[in-house]
Amino acid sequence: MTMIDRQEFLQQTRRLVVKVGSNVLTSDQGLNLPVIYALSCQIAGLMKKGMEVILVSSGAMASGQKKIGLSRRPDDIPRRQAIAAVGQPGLMLEYEKAFQVYNIMVAQILLTGDDLTASRDRYLNARNTLNTLLDWKIVPVINENDTVVVDEIRFGDNDNLSAMIAMLMNADLLINLTDIDGMYTGDPRVQSNATLIPVVEAVDERIEAIAGDIPGTLGTGGMLSKIRAAEKVTTAGIPMVITSGREPDILEKLFSGKNIGTFFVPAREKMSSRKCWIGYNVKPKGILKIDAGAAKAILTRGKSLLPGGIIGVEGDFGVGDAVEISHAGAERIAIGLVNYGSRDIQKIMGCRTDRIAECLGEKRYDEVVHRDNLAVLNGFSL
Ligand code: GLU
Repeated sequence: MTMIDRQEFLQQTRRLVVKVGSNVLTSDQGLNLPVIYALSCQIAGLMKKGMEVILVSSGAMASGQKKIGLSRRPDDIPRRQAIAAVGQPGLMLEYEKAFQVYNIMVAQILLTGDDLTASRDRYLNARNTLNTLLDWKIVPVINENDTVVVDEIRFGDNDNLSAMIAMLMNADLLINLTDIDGMYTGDPRVQSNATLIPVVEAVDERIEAIAGDIPGTLGTGGMLSKIRAAEKVTTAGIPMVITSGREPDILEKLFSGKNIGTFFVPAREKMSSRKCWIGYNVKPKGILKIDAGAAKAILTRGKSLLPGGIIGVEGDFGVGDAVEISHAGAERIAIGLVNYGSRDIQKIMGCRTDRIAECLGEKRYDEVVHRDNLAVLNGFSL
């Protein structure tokens, strides 16, 4: 991709999600106020130009830990949740004061993974609330609701949360502000010959392997969780930039045309928000294994999944449930909502469509998963 393309994405950004990491937001003393003020100043500037900005902010735990005087983050869940509860109000207070300078209000949104995955109603409610805040020119400041989450319902880290928010809100760009100025070919803190990767065209195994060797220091993330977030949003057609949050004018530099940080190129077409919901929010209840012909039809020709291409069914699921679609041992190539339950699919798998009625006594649909209910995911090529 040429530099011009990258700038085109930035210039076209109307709705922006900015994620800021704990390392950027805290110093040895606690919250890093100059960073919070610099960030607010830049966001206010972007809003003045007509941009809608949603902030996903970490820092509650790191700041709570320092406030209480613990030398390191506790290992047990209750104390981790308690330090987040101590840190969160102070974090919001500082954002409130910093944005007040520009007459801009902030709103606190605390979410658990479950809020966006367990029920379509809660997902839509979150979207409606955020849309209302944006209409009112208020900056939503989002964090994981750390005090109540347990592993099963966590986003896991704010890199993932920011990706889910970018998709929920159909953002034009996700910027991940961290303590290094992009993704390097190694860990620049220990490898002096590591060089910055300016553009990532596809999050493939090579990129994952590099990222796996670059841990984070304070937050839960590290580079791997950032590129997993990049993989999600780019599949959904949203570009992402990883760059340094420590530079006071980083957003201004980015939007004024400087090619800084690492730019992740999005898929050519934006995924509809309904397909984002199917692909990344609905919890799959089973697995459909498909043959090479069906995989090719889905991946390269955007076709529906017919019974003839199915070679295995796992799980007990009903009509309308989500399932993972996998091929030849690959993790998963798509998520889809099924027209038939698992027991019926057992009976019709491998059959030609014109034999469905014979196998089941009736034929409700030709497709087991219609292409409108099928979200094709990244990371797989035939
Ligand atoms: N939600 C955590 C906090 O505010 C941070 C999680 C993360 O950085 O990934 O402290």
